[in-house]
Amino acid sequence: MKKKFLYYLVFLFISFQNAIAGSFHLDIVEVAPGIFVHQGEHHDVDEGYQGDICNIGFIIGKDSVAVVDSGGSLEIGKALKASIRERTSLPIKYVINTHVHLDHIYGNAVFVNKNTKFIGHSELPKAMQLRKEIYERLNLEYLNTPIEKSIQIPPSIFIKVNESQIFDLGERKIKISAYPSAHTNNDITIEDLKTGTLWAGDLLFVERTPVVDGDIHGIIKVIDQLLSLKINLVIPGHGTPTIKWREAFKKHKNYFIILRDEVRNAIAEDIGLQEAIETVAQSEAKKWELFDVQNPRNINQAYTQLEWE
Ligand SMILES: [Zn+2]
Repeated sequence: MKKKFLYYLVFLFISFQNAIAGSFHLDIVEVAPGIFVHQGEHHDVDEGYQGDICNIGFIIGKDSVAVVDSGGSLEIGKALKASIRERTSLPIKYVINTHVHLDHIYGNAVFVNKNTKFIGHSELPKAMQLRKEIYERLNLEYLNTPIEKSIQIPPSIFIKVNESQIFDLGERKIKISAYPSAHTNNDITIEDLKTGTLWAGDLLFVERTPVVDGDIHGIIKVIDQLLSLKINLVIPGHGTPTIKWREAFKKHKNYFIILRDEVRNAIAEDIGLQEAIETVAQSEAKKWELFDVQNPRNINQAYTQLEWE
């Protein structure tokens, strides 16, 4: 009798686990024909982080599929793969990572397959390696992911800085371009030539406060470069895809110009980092979400960079 009860408990537990695994479903929007995006929530990587804070998605061609960013965990990766399989049985030929940040790459392992190639900036493997331990710690702390399940899959196809490569998904060409240090030192964009859609990765934030983890001058320069593109729609790394992409890039750039100028002034006037953190770019506070969390980090990054100029 006791044994039976125990089996019953085990059965209940397994059913419960399956229910959790099976119930995970991503909201996906087809933003342009054949281009599907899941929009993450605006959370910081802190208490409440659930591995689902950036935009991830896929592009379906006539012969194959490309994934753009895989989410912050294996669970998100699995849910993304399931959403692809709800729409097509075509092979997933490419998994593209727009850059190294943990919310964009930890679903990669779900897509490992002999027919799937991983694409990224030529600096991406090194950047992954450098952040490996910190990311394992964060994934363990917030997602309860055991270290052996924080799996990095680096690219096997590299895009060199200032270069572009075209990939064909079958009657659908995508152009992947790599940039000098900006949001990070390993940013790429993906342009779908068929619909004029640009996946900007974190070279564009919409709604949420932008992040500099590379080079503040680089960000401003890259945005000028992207503003000259002939495209219809931009999918940012965070926030809502937009056809008003010029305005969005300009707002993004404007924040960094204010940040750069006010940090420069602070340094020139011998204002210390701590005081700068409390005062710089406050005119932007109401324009962005998570501003009080992210703006101090950006000031810290910019101050350290600009101090040496
Ligand atoms: Zn990022």
